[in-house]
Amino acid sequence: MEENILDCVIVGSGPSGFTAAIYAARADLKPELYTGLEPGGQLTTTTEVDNFPGYPAGITGPEMMMDLQKQAERFDTKVHYEMITKAEFSKEEGGIHKLYAGNKEILAKSVIISTGATAKYLGLDDEKKYNGGGVSACATCDGFFYRGKDVVVVGAGDTAAEEATYLSKLVNKVTMLVRKGEFRASKAMIHRVENTPNIEVKFHHELIGIEGENNLVERAVVINNQTQEKSTVDVHGIFIAIGHKPNTDIFAGQIDLDENGYIATEKGSTRTNLPGVFAAGDVQDHIYRQAITAAGSGCMAAMDAEKYLAELH
Ligand SMILES: Cc1cc2nc3c(=O)[nH]c(=O)nc-3n(C[C@H](O)[C@H](O)[C@H](O)COP(=O)(O)OP(=O)(O)OC[C@H]3O[C@@H](n4cnc5c(N)ncnc54)[C@H](O)[C@@H]3O)c2cc1C
Repeated sequence: MEENILDCVIVGSGPSGFTAAIYAARADLKPELYTGLEPGGQLTTTTEVDNFPGYPAGITGPEMMMDLQKQAERFDTKVHYEMITKAEFSKEEGGIHKLYAGNKEILAKSVIISTGATAKYLGLDDEKKYNGGGVSACATCDGFFYRGKDVVVVGAGDTAAEEATYLSKLVNKVTMLVRKGEFRASKAMIHRVENTPNIEVKFHHELIGIEGENNLVERAVVINNQTQEKSTVDVHGIFIAIGHKPNTDIFAGQIDLDENGYIATEKGSTRTNLPGVFAAGDVQDHIYRQAITAAGSGCMAAMDAEKYLAELH
């Protein structure tokens, strides 16, 4: 029996995966897309998306992702509601890559990895309770909603320093909670934080709870971990900025990752170190992390895959 070798398999169903699918399908690559455990990706966990071009009145994350899926399916993308559990990539030009969804083996000439990244949270029950009601892991996405208000930023690294300085331009006051007695951020970022008058840094302080009515944040409950003294900070928004984890565990050891575990791609392209394997979206981007940039790189990945396949013939 002849083996079914697909031209293009897409792993992940966020904005990058579905955009790659639209472009790959329209280039006649007959893509098959595996959604993973979170069909639609990170945006399905948010309410309003106000910054994706083309939606003048904004749109909810789940609706936007359903639109993207419908558009991909209009061009005959086959969507599988399954998770890829293992990958065996070929290192040869024109080699056949093997992916597994449990016991099912999938053979492909090209693979687009768009498995995204997951924001890290502290693990407090209140983070879940107030998610969508004032707790966020993305200042660029949600800062706008807190214009003129007070917010807390949790974290000590470059991400936290960047989120705090970004928010300081929009909000009335930013209180940064730093667990240790010093930042982990670069000197330049620390300097920016220290020179921003409406950022107050509370060293040795940790977020331990959130209070508010109707699941809307009103107060951050904090503890000074040196004196054990508890207090509250009146705020409307709490930004958790302790980093992201790229979803690359199943690819580790087979494909080149950068020092933070993101898939390494050639500058200006989505090519990885393996021929026929491309990466798009947050899984290869720890800087921009937006739906539009993920979608843009999904388009690039499909075009890179199409070119790769064309050059094999
Ligand atoms: C709460 C929240 C609000 C946000 N708001 C905005 C906003 O307003 N505007 C904006 O531009 N951006 C926003 N973002 C950021 C935006 O969601 C991301 O930048 C974008 O979703 C990244 O897209 P992606 O395609 O890289 O992957 P993701 O959306 O991260 O999706 C990854 C996909 O990969 C799948 N996957 C993972 N592992 C596997 C596997 N082994 N097999 C198969 N599939 C797998 C998952 O199921 C998922 O479908 C927000 C993020 C969050 C968390």
